[in-house]
Amino acid sequence: MSWAKNFWGYKTGKMKKIVIIGGGINGLIAANYLAKEKYDVTVVEKKSFTGGACIKDSAVIQNKEIDFAYGATVLGMMPDFIFSETGLDKLIETFYPKTPKLVYFPDSKKSTRIFQNNKELDVELEQEWGEKGDTLGFRNDENKVINYIQHIYKNAISPSIEHAENFLGKDNTDLWVRGSAKDLLDHYFTSEKTKLYMGMTVIESGPASIYDPGTAFTIPLMDSGSVFNGYWGYVKNGIWKISENLTEINKNLGVKFSLNSNIENINTEKGLISYNSNGVINELNYDHLLFATDPKAPGELLNNETIKSKNSKLNYLGSSGKVTAFFKNPVKWVESNKNPEYDTSFRFFFSNNTLEEFETASQNASKKVADYCPGYIQVYAEGGAQRKMNNDEHLDKIILFTKNLSFDKSAEKIDDVKEKIISRVMPHIKNPEDLVFSKFLTPKDLNETFYFPEGNIDHMTLDGNQNFDKRTFSSNANNFYKYYDFDNIYYCGAGSFPCGSVAGTPGYMCAKQLIRSDQ
Ligand SMILES: Cc1cc2nc3c(=O)[nH]c(=O)nc-3n(C[C@H](O)[C@H](O)[C@H](O)COP(=O)(O)OP(=O)(O)OC[C@H]3O[C@@H](n4cnc5c(N)ncnc54)[C@H](O)[C@@H]3O)c2cc1C
Repeated sequence: MSWAKNFWGYKTGKMKKIVIIGGGINGLIAANYLAKEKYDVTVVEKKSFTGGACIKDSAVIQNKEIDFAYGATVLGMMPDFIFSETGLDKLIETFYPKTPKLVYFPDSKKSTRIFQNNKELDVELEQEWGEKGDTLGFRNDENKVINYIQHIYKNAISPSIEHAENFLGKDNTDLWVRGSAKDLLDHYFTSEKTKLYMGMTVIESGPASIYDPGTAFTIPLMDSGSVFNGYWGYVKNGIWKISENLTEINKNLGVKFSLNSNIENINTEKGLISYNSNGVINELNYDHLLFATDPKAPGELLNNETIKSKNSKLNYLGSSGKVTAFFKNPVKWVESNKNPEYDTSFRFFFSNNTLEEFETASQNASKKVADYCPGYIQVYAEGGAQRKMNNDEHLDKIILFTKNLSFDKSAEKIDDVKEKIISRVMPHIKNPEDLVFSKFLTPKDLNETFYFPEGNIDHMTLDGNQNFDKRTFSSNANNFYKYYDFDNIYYCGAGSFPCGSVAGTPGYMCAKQLIRSDQ
């Protein structure tokens, strides 16, 4: 199926050539599935290494070097079948906390526990937040939607409202896919705090409004990974081991990598790209060309004014940033006396008490009212998780991943914001004096480091116009990943369906659709 055919339609014995521009997680996953179908695959990457935003950084702290996650930190959205079919499961050790997530609001030092068991969760939400709504009904319906999302992932089905209605029924599609996050949350819950916790992922990619139709879908979407059954967890040593191992797996499958490569020209008539690699101009023919970059790059590289103009009208604004905090002794959480296993729990620190305050903060961030409009901070206990996997490092690490940062300034210009983020979490740590170093990244830094448009970790905001069936550039109903009108050019970076994340789902779905249409 992946053999080239001559003018008369006979197979020529030559493998079809695929060029993938961009060696992040999506380029690597697409390369893996295409190489296994016997395509001749070359990945052309601008940087001197693969991995995109799933790479490591390192620092010398207390005279010793330590590695840490530069961009992505936690694994969760990857489908289990991608993890196993690529062979990553044989090479990567993982851990995910089974303990409840812990949620803190400004008016309480005590956490509310988000149990994985729905009955326990139901009781906790009623006791702690006075929830009188239908938590069990919400989880039940959410699971139906997640099953549906996982079904379209696995079978590489283009998302469409019609298909969703056939699977979920009209009411659930209206509520969970077409609807706004606000309507979805009001439908199931009475407590503002439950709504805030359950709805916070609406601003995962950037300051989407909870009132925007189509934003409800982001809520089940963020739990639609299956590598840990919908939960999030850690990779031994660090998440960059995913990209490093995948690169090696791909090399063994015959995928060629051209690093340090700047595309000079793409001749779409001839199916030819030329690029400069370390001062040498190379040319490559392609039968299919995949862009696994951010979605703006292809318009620039194709030098196509119409596409550039269309792309300029999309919403890219990102508002995420992260502080990696290093402690010379293991972090002692105030609440771990409840249960020592809670040391590795995910923690969420809100600065708002109501959905309306949350909305105001995220929209103020998008209007650049301030450098930082506090909403919530997710805390990843990376060091604690590493110890669970018998990786004892000389420093403990926690990651404070936050939203509602404005795009204007790099971290070095807003040290006060870093302090504000750290000081929201520190009262919950018994040994704050052990903090020895911290590194802060803002959306502007993410733009400069990873080329993310406007610093968006999903390459494009998950607003209602860029979610589910609308998250495509394709003019071709049968192939969701085609790039505009081109027959043999595709886009499968984080700006395509479903979204960003160290999942590789866009790369997988694009590869599967390409293979299918090529048969
Ligand atoms: C700070 C931060 C924290 C995050 N946290 C998490 C997390 O904890 N968990 C999670 O799952 N996700 C997380 N994410 C999101 C996740 O990292 C990204 O969504 C995902 O890595 C995107 O993968 P990608 O392959 O689509 O794109 P990228 O990783 O952006 O890769 C694109 C590749 O294309 C290359 N490229 C670009 N232009 C060109 C060109 N002209 N020619 C050749 N090559 C080019 C780039 O160098 C890059 O290697 C985080 C991201 C950031 C930045």
